[in-house]
Amino acid sequence: MIVQHVLGSATTVMMVMAAGVVLWRAADECCGQEPAPTTGPVTEIVTPIRDEIPTHMPEGMLRPFIDAHTHYGGQHPQTLAWLERWDAKLLLIGGGRRSESYRSLIQKYPKRYAWCTSFDLKSFEDPGYAEKIIEGLRKDFADGAIACKIFKSLGLFLKDSEGNFPQIDDPIFEPILSWLEQEGHVLMTHVAEPMGMWRPLGETNAYTAYLKKRPKGHFYGRDDVPSHATIMAARDRVLARHPKLKMIGAHFGCMEYDVAEIAKRFDAYGNFAVDTSGPTRIIDLGQQDHEKVRAFFIKYADRIMYGSDRSVRKSQLEMNPQELAESLGEIEWAAQISWDYYATDKVVVIKGFQCKGLSLPPDVLKKLFYTTAKAWLPGM
Ligand SMILES: [Zn+2]
Repeated sequence: MIVQHVLGSATTVMMVMAAGVVLWRAADECCGQEPAPTTGPVTEIVTPIRDEIPTHMPEGMLRPFIDAHTHYGGQHPQTLAWLERWDAKLLLIGGGRRSESYRSLIQKYPKRYAWCTSFDLKSFEDPGYAEKIIEGLRKDFADGAIACKIFKSLGLFLKDSEGNFPQIDDPIFEPILSWLEQEGHVLMTHVAEPMGMWRPLGETNAYTAYLKKRPKGHFYGRDDVPSHATIMAARDRVLARHPKLKMIGAHFGCMEYDVAEIAKRFDAYGNFAVDTSGPTRIIDLGQQDHEKVRAFFIKYADRIMYGSDRSVRKSQLEMNPQELAESLGEIEWAAQISWDYYATDKVVVIKGFQCKGLSLPPDVLKKLFYTTAKAWLPGM
């Protein structure tokens, strides 16, 4: 169904279906963890091998465009040609083991890739922790990083030696946040998870299939993890305490369940913006009042930037043709489905949920897919 809305030819439809299956089974909905191994239905689907640069992006798709949330360090000539064709630039998010490849990609392809680094959280109780982290970040920014991300384990999984969950406003992290603010560096935060993970499973919960496979990530009815509200409140205190710290809340700042909640933060904190990653959030938007959501995107267009949250699971140079086709299909598919939802009035179907497109005006689309990211992420 969805593919008929999006695309024309039968061949293309098969490609996208294959890409879609990979996307929903293996891609990390909530970035920060390793995607599940690729086993299962993908082998049952005939995936055409691409022998040319994919061209079937949606009609009207903006060029250039920015994807401000990826872990997609693709370096295959086909990927680079695709980025060239769409004059696209991707923000690569990750530190640690990803740093080296991201560092090298931004040096080799500065027009196609920018880098948002990260830092270690596990060692937070070590003496001299903040100083050590700042030293590492100083080097990453000197090497070309344009932002720094805090991953979701902070506030949700990370425990101190007494069994408490430190939140992002814990004094231990304060020197790091102050340093970022003083230096004018952008902080991306992925704190908490979608609200659906604190809600009962069922046919209205977009995360049901995901959580059935990962029951540990389902927080409904549990008192051994902080509440969604606790994590949001800590994040808000950081925004208030550091008014010059530019913060981008990944995945709609984990307030995807109600655009009014995001609007409240935009009104209260001029230093706060969000990205739209990943595509399951479209389902959350689609479940809210259509006009309310549309008005929200128009009113706050200067604070919302497109992100896909796509990733590559291994070097594209080591992929076989089928893996490469799927890998290319992922990023293309995310752009396609997002364009259809934000730019047209088609009914987009994701995981069986029907979401009526917002048909946003051209100036708003330009901000969503390009200008807002440019403004919030100098160097993007
Ligand atoms: Zn991510």
